[in-house]
Amino acid sequence: MTDRSSLVADDAGRSEGSPQGDVFDLVGIGFGPSNLALAIALEEHNTDNPGSTIRARFFERQEAFAWHPGMLLEGATMQIAFPKDLVTFRNPTSSYSFFSYLHDRGRLVDFVNHQTFFPTRHEFQDYLQWAASRVDADVRYGTQVDAVEAVRDHNGVADLFAIRTADGVVYARSVVVGVGLRARVPHWATESARCFHNHRFLFHLEDMPEPVHQRFVVVGAGQSAAEVVDYLHTHYPQAEVHSVFNRFGYSPADDSPYANRIFDPEVVGQLHGAPLAERERLLALHRSTNYSVVAPELIEALYATEYRERVSGRRRLFMRRASEVLSATETAEGIDVEIRDNLAGDTETLACDAVVLATGFEPASLRPLFGDLAPGSPILSVARDYRLPTPEDVTADIYLQGGTEKTHGLTASLLSNAAIRAGEILSSIVERRDLRLSGAPGGIDGLGRLTDHHTYATSEAR
Ligand SMILES: Cc1cc2nc3c(=O)[nH]c(=O)nc-3n(C[C@H](O)[C@H](O)[C@H](O)COP(=O)(O)OP(=O)(O)OC[C@H]3O[C@@H](n4cnc5c(N)ncnc54)[C@H](O)[C@@H]3O)c2cc1C
Repeated sequence: MTDRSSLVADDAGRSEGSPQGDVFDLVGIGFGPSNLALAIALEEHNTDNPGSTIRARFFERQEAFAWHPGMLLEGATMQIAFPKDLVTFRNPTSSYSFFSYLHDRGRLVDFVNHQTFFPTRHEFQDYLQWAASRVDADVRYGTQVDAVEAVRDHNGVADLFAIRTADGVVYARSVVVGVGLRARVPHWATESARCFHNHRFLFHLEDMPEPVHQRFVVVGAGQSAAEVVDYLHTHYPQAEVHSVFNRFGYSPADDSPYANRIFDPEVVGQLHGAPLAERERLLALHRSTNYSVVAPELIEALYATEYRERVSGRRRLFMRRASEVLSATETAEGIDVEIRDNLAGDTETLACDAVVLATGFEPASLRPLFGDLAPGSPILSVARDYRLPTPEDVTADIYLQGGTEKTHGLTASLLSNAAIRAGEILSSIVERRDLRLSGAPGGIDGLGRLTDHHTYATSEAR
C-alpha cells in the first residue's frame, strides 16, 4: 500500500501531480454486469441532461468483457428471467434491453417462439458483451485497480480519492466498487491442476493432465456443483463422477412467485429499513431461493441418469450424501481424495484425476484496495444508497455494487436488481455532486436515504 500521507491536495481539490481537470465524478472498479449497468445508466443520464453530465472511468482487469467465462457450459441456462436485464426495470424504453439485443441480432421472433424466460448463459453473455461494446463509456480493460487512497486537503479533509493502477493514478469524487465475489476454497484444499474451484472450470479442464483413473470428485450441492457433475459425466463417458455433499440430497431452488418477491426492487428498501434480527430471519428462511439449491429440471435429469445406470448395472454417477472430504493428496498420477460418510461413519479414499470445488463464493475483503478505510467483513453498515460509511473527514464517497447482502438482501450478488441499483447509485452521485457544487449549508451529509424519485419501484408498493 502506498503511503497515504504523501497524497496532499491543494485548495482546489487536486493532489500534487494530478493533472488539472483529471478529476472524475466517479471511477468504477470492475466492469462486470453491475458496473456495466451503471455505465449504461450514466450514458442515458448524460444524453438526457447535457448540462449536468457525469465524468466517469471504469477499470477492468480482464482483457475484454467476459461474464464468468469458465462456467459457460453448453446448455446451462440463466437462473433469472431475462427482463431482469441491465436496464428494463429502471428504464423499459432503453435501447440496451435484452429485447433490443435480440432485435439487433435478428432473433426476436425466434426467441419469442421459444417461449422461455430463461435464455442460456451463452446467449446472456453475448447480450452482455453486445451491451459492453455499444455503451459510450471510458473503460480501461486489462487494468487492475491496486489501491484507493483518500487525498487530504490542507485541513485534513478528503473529498477526493486517488485510484492507483499499474498505468498511474486517477482521481475521483466517488468510487463504485463492482469487483464481484471471491471463490471460497475449503481449508483442506490446495489449488492445483488437479484441485480447482469451479469458477474457472473450463480453463482448468484444458490444463488438467490426461485422466488416468477415470474418476472425478465434485464437492458441493449447489447449481454449479450439479452442472459440473452433469458436464463431467457427459464429456468423460468412461469416467466415474462422485458428487460429495453434506446435505442428504440436492434441494430444488425455490423459484415460486411469492418467494421470488424477495428479489423485488422495493423489497431492498424494506429489508434495509427493517430491524437487523428480522432481516436476518427472512434472509435465512429464504436462502433456498439462491444458495445450495439446484434447478429442479437438472435434479430430475441427474436422477434419471443415475437410475438408468442402476438398471444397466454400469454405474458411473455416485451421490455421496451426508459426506465430506477430509483431505486431498496429490500423487504422481492423480489425486487421492479421502471422503467420510457421516451417516455410516466410514472413510474411503478414492484415486481421482481431479477434484472440483463447487464450494461457493464470498465477498472479497475490501482491505487490500482501501486499507484502513475498509470496513470489517461481513459489511454490516451500508447506507440505503449503497454508500459505505467513511470517517467524518472523508467526504468522498465509496459505493458498493455487491457485498451488501447483510444490509440490502439477497439481490446483492445477483443480476435481479442490477438495473435499479445502478439507477439509485447514479442518482445519489448526481445529487451529491450537485450539493457539493452548490456549497449547500449542511454540505453533503445525509443518511444515504433515497428520495422517492430514486426508488424506481415497480409494483403495488407504490
Ligand atoms: C457461473 C455463475 C452463474 C451465475 N448465474 C447467475 C444468474 O443466472 N442470475 C443471477 O442473478 N446471478 C448469477 N450469478 C451471480 C453473479 O454474481 C452475477 O451474475 C454477476 O456476475 C454480478 O456482477 P458483478 O458485476 O457484480 O460481478 P462480476 O460479474 O464478478 O464482475 C466483477 C468484475 O470486476 C473485475 N475486477 C475485480 N477486481 C478488480 C480490480 N481490483 N480491478 C479491476 N477489475 C476488477 C473482475 O475481473 C470482474 O470482471 C452467477 C454467477 C456464476 C459464478
